[in-house]
Amino acid sequence: MKGVASRVRSAEPKYKNRAYSPSFLVDAMLGNIARKLRIFGYDTLYLKDTSDTSVLEIASREKRVLLTRDKELFRRVIKEGVDGVLLEKYDEIENIAYILSKYGIPCLSFDTGVARCSRCNGILTFKKAIDVAGCLPMSIVKNNHNFFQCINCDRIYWEGKHVSCLRLLAERINNRIEKFEADSNDSDSAFLDKRLKSPRNNKPLLSQNEQNSRLR
Ligand SMILES: [Zn+2]
Repeated sequence: MKGVASRVRSAEPKYKNRAYSPSFLVDAMLGNIARKLRIFGYDTLYLKDTSDTSVLEIASREKRVLLTRDKELFRRVIKEGVDGVLLEKYDEIENIAYILSKYGIPCLSFDTGVARCSRCNGILTFKKAIDVAGCLPMSIVKNNHNFFQCINCDRIYWEGKHVSCLRLLAERINNRIEKFEADSNDSDSAFLDKRLKSPRNNKPLLSQNEQNSRLR
C-alpha cells in the first residue's frame, strides 16, 4: 500500500467485523477529527492537558481506540498493548477514512439519530420547535422543523444548510475508504500470489483449481 503505511500506522491488526463500532479517545492536536467523529455518531473522548499516563489509562479502562499524532505516546500505546492509531499527516479526510477502514467500517453517513454533540460528546435528543422557542432566534425556530439538544451541555442543533456539507464530507470520506479497501485487496492478492509460487522452481505450489478456490 504505497504511501498509506507511512502516513498512518496502527498498533492493532485490522478488524474485519462490520458490526464492530469502536469508541475513540482523541489526543490533543486532533480536535477537528474528534468533532467530526462525534458528528458522525462515534463516541469520542477528547482530552487536552492530560498526562500521557492518564490518557493511556483511560483508553485502556474504557476500551477506546487512542488516536494520536504523538510518536512518543504511540510507542507507549504499542508497549502497553493499548488499541491505537498514529496519525502522522494532516489530511483530515484521509485520516478519518483510514481509521474507519482499519476498524472495518465500510462507510459513514450523517444521521441525526446517532449524531453526538460536537462540543462535549453528549447524546442528542429530538426537540420540536415549540420546545426550543425562546432558546434560539425566532428566525431559526420558524425556518426549521427538527431540533436536537445535548443532554450534557444543553447545546441545541438544527438541520441547517450545513447538513449538505456534512453529507458531502461523508461522501468524500467514503470514497477514500473505498480506495483504502481496494489498495488493501491488491496488497492481499499480491501477497497470496507470492505464497502460491515456489521460490525455487517458479512453479505453482497448488494446482490451478486449488489456486482458484483459494482466491475466491
Ligand atoms: Zn454537549
